[in-house]
Amino acid sequence: MRINKLWILLALLVLVVVTGGARSPLIFLLHLPILMVAMRTRARLGLLVGLFVSVVYLAAAHFQIPQTQGAGMLVAGMALSFPAVAVFAALLHRRMEDRYLRLSTRSREMKTLLDMSQMMDAAFDLDMTLNLILLNVQEITRCQVCAVYLKADGGDILELRAASGPSDRAPLAPSIRLADARAERWALDDNAAPGAIAPAFYAPQAIRVSDTPPPPLYTLDQRARSFACVPLTCLEGLLGMLYVGYDLPQGMDGEGLRRLEQLVGRASFPLQRALLQQGFQFLAFRDAKTGLDNYRQFEQNLVSEMNRAERYNHRLSVILLDIDHFKHFNDTYGHPAGDALLAQLAVVLQNCLRGADRPARYGGEEFVVLCPETGKEEARLIAERIRKSVAETRFTLVQEGEAKDGTTQETQSTVHVTVSLGFATFPQDARSSTDIVKRADLALYAAKNAGRNAVRGHEDISQRLAVG
Ligand code: GH3
Ligand code: MG
Ligand code: MG
Repeated sequence: MRINKLWILLALLVLVVVTGGARSPLIFLLHLPILMVAMRTRARLGLLVGLFVSVVYLAAAHFQIPQTQGAGMLVAGMALSFPAVAVFAALLHRRMEDRYLRLSTRSREMKTLLDMSQMMDAAFDLDMTLNLILLNVQEITRCQVCAVYLKADGGDILELRAASGPSDRAPLAPSIRLADARAERWALDDNAAPGAIAPAFYAPQAIRVSDTPPPPLYTLDQRARSFACVPLTCLEGLLGMLYVGYDLPQGMDGEGLRRLEQLVGRASFPLQRALLQQGFQFLAFRDAKTGLDNYRQFEQNLVSEMNRAERYNHRLSVILLDIDHFKHFNDTYGHPAGDALLAQLAVVLQNCLRGADRPARYGGEEFVVLCPETGKEEARLIAERIRKSVAETRFTLVQEGEAKDGTTQETQSTVHVTVSLGFATFPQDARSSTDIVKRADLALYAAKNAGRNAVRGHEDISQRLAVG
């Protein structure tokens, strides 16, 4: 290829020389090598070649062209045209190169954004989605630290959910009040147009010099010298915000900010989907009334704990709890008051347990506690602790009544309830997961028969059976 071009150049030169040199009607062909050099290499080299051709031409013209006034003007014009073409070609070349660079950067960005969207679409849970967002943001912004804050506590607080940055860096603030964040001219509008890319808040100089306390957004990251916050929004409103911090001022320019906003715009949908999915998962294994594990989750835990106990020869106890005369409670105070009591009882129950014990709502007004590595004596102690604690608790009762003026009025009082508990232990009382629950239920039945507000183990019934 190179040789071909060299041959062409030589051929051009020969053609010009044989057709008359400086007087040749084909002299304009000498612009071609200048154009080639200026378009392909740097402007300076093109100009040098242009000047060189110009000098050679002037020398040849000096000998070949008679020195008349008209001819002199023509020769000067032609001599000037060589460097002029070189400059023009170089300018044109630079412009085209700039445009090409801009286009290729843009297409690279679009490709990165597309790849990122696809990656985030493929994420199957919230943690993975958050990590992918952080990874992509770091890739695009080259920031020192980035984090995702999500709405929590009924939407009043933005809570740190995921962050990435060097391990030796001071941790980011764990939360910020939404009202404080909004005070920062930050367009966190819940009613923003659906699908619109939300504008970021950018602080190019985050150095704190004054004595007055810094605005809250500036306190999220102690080391940042410039930062940006971008709202994460969905059709329903604000999900949270993305924080990007730099250790130097002017961490990003306008272009960088635009890219970040685009990326965040694309991340919002996968994030919302992951949050919804997590909510569904939570509901699938949680009891909505009490926040405890539901029966399905309890069953799964029981089977895996039973397998472990069998394999490693460990003990395992199951405690069943039933509220005494709960039907009467409902009849007296109403079903909503019964629901409120269930939620309060769940808290009391949790407070009586050790970290490894797992309470669950078994169904209706019955609860169950799975106690790994727990023998009969310990199980009895735990059950007794629960029984005593419930009996001593004054549960809050909120009831609606009619005031003298006819308006509805809420009255608050306290109430006592008692519970009966039955427990069974692996391996003494039962050898399978279904059997252990059955045995605990029998023990619970015995506790009810004993007059309620009582604890019975499966051993108590078996002893009685043996005596009987
Ligand atoms: P015992 O001492 O023998 O356990 O008597 P009890 O009245 O507690 O037992 P029973 O099985 O006769 O009644 C259980 C009651 O629990 C009936 C039902 O209305 C009530 N219950 C079950 N689930 C819920 C619930 O989610 N909320 C409310 N408020 N009540 C519930
Ligand atoms: Mg019951
Ligand atoms: Mg009951």
